Amino acid sequence: MDMRLDPADQAIQARTREFAERYLFPYELECEERQGLSKKSLGIIRRAVKEYCLNAYNHRKEDGGPGYTPLQQLLIHEELGKATCGLWAVVWTATLPLRHGTARQRRDYLLPIIAGKRRCCYAITEPEAGSDPRMVKTSARLKKGRWELSGEKWFVTSADVCDLILVHAHVDGDPEKPTLFVVHKDDPGVTVKRVPKFMHTYVFEHQEFLFDRVALAPSRLLGKVGEGYELTKDWFTDTRFQIAAHCTGAAIRATEIANDFAASRVQFGRPIRDFQAIEFMLADMAVEIMAAKSMLYRSGWELGNGLERKLAHARASAVKLYCSEMAGRVIDKAVQILGGRGYMRENPVERLYRDIRVDRIWEGTSEIQRAIIGGQIKKRGLGLYTGWV
Ligand SMILES: Cc1cc2nc3c(=O)[nH]c(=O)nc-3n(C[C@H](O)[C@H](O)[C@H](O)COP(=O)(O)OP(=O)(O)OC[C@H]3O[C@@H](n4cnc5c(N)ncnc54)[C@H](O)[C@@H]3O)c2cc1C
Repeated sequence: MDMRLDPADQAIQARTREFAERYLFPYELECEERQGLSKKSLGIIRRAVKEYCLNAYNHRKEDGGPGYTPLQQLLIHEELGKATCGLWAVVWTATLPLRHGTARQRRDYLLPIIAGKRRCCYAITEPEAGSDPRMVKTSARLKKGRWELSGEKWFVTSADVCDLILVHAHVDGDPEKPTLFVVHKDDPGVTVKRVPKFMHTYVFEHQEFLFDRVALAPSRLLGKVGEGYELTKDWFTDTRFQIAAHCTGAAIRATEIANDFAASRVQFGRPIRDFQAIEFMLADMAVEIMAAKSMLYRSGWELGNGLERKLAHARASAVKLYCSEMAGRVIDKAVQILGGRGYMRENPVERLYRDIRVDRIWEGTSEIQRAIIGGQIKKRGLGLYTGWV
């Protein structure tokens, strides 16, 4: 079994690392202090995204993307995940279900998004529908050949920089007909209700939307009526692996900072790393990262070697669960090693500590991942997770 990264993988990893160090890290403090970036800074980063061929890095060549392998995509996510304040979100991806659109939808939405001319956010969650999307109240009804969509959506990430919203609605209010619609933010009847603040400093906003009888042409339906979950499954698989890789990158950066500090910080006449209490924390952090990386890279390899879609979805839950919880434990230790400095907002470790808390919540909470894994064990047997074929 050859587990090494090949030269192409290594080149992409090195290129993305350079991008993060040159174009994300230097803007972190600006983002923290102004709770966002100036137009000028955003413009500089966005231009670099294209120079480094990182735009829409989750898309295949045949869909107009750069065609990175799944393992290469994880390597990219890992490097970007080292940046704080969610600056990785400036590196735009294109919402996966759009590749299942009609030729016209691909022309009007997917290709311009890949090129960075448009941007799409994804709205599933509602006041009463979180972990259980069957509780969604947003409904769409066909009236005189047009869809009429009404409802409310919460936590719509990056909506402030998007012109398109992929809305998960129930046709005729029927939970058996979950369906995706492409809504334009300037469609009459679409309003931003509120822009709440969150624990992390994130480069963009998570807005709340109201949809009041928004009239949509038939061409705004993505896929077929009732296909909402099927299309969303691809998105969840993709974003859960993405989160796992981000968390691994975040844990690595925090550990590197803590390791350097432990070597240089002298108390009681010696570097603090010479105290076993500190050394053992660093040891645990390194081992946890090693385990997370092993899961992640193995999955990347499997995804690129024909892992069945349903199994990929099942694996994504395990990898997201482990990596997000691992990052919480590791970065907490990094804060501890840094002492008071680890509690200062100007320190990347403090920001990482806040940033990664949401990774145990969004794209399915840790409890929901455990429920998926438990269900898969019941259905397919333990070997899905404990075996190696
Ligand atoms: C910063 C941020 C950005 C987000 N971005 C988006 C976005 O862009 N688009 C979008 O649609 N959504 C987004 N979300 C929403 C996110 O996906 C939901 O918050 C998440 O799915 C959990 O739903 P909830 O908050 O309603 O919690 P609930 O579902 O109400 O859960 C509350 C608690 O109950 C637990 N729980 C629920 N059901 C079970 C069960 N069956 N078994 C055991 N425990 C259970 C949960 O794990 C949790 O601990 C975002 C959230 C945040 C915080």
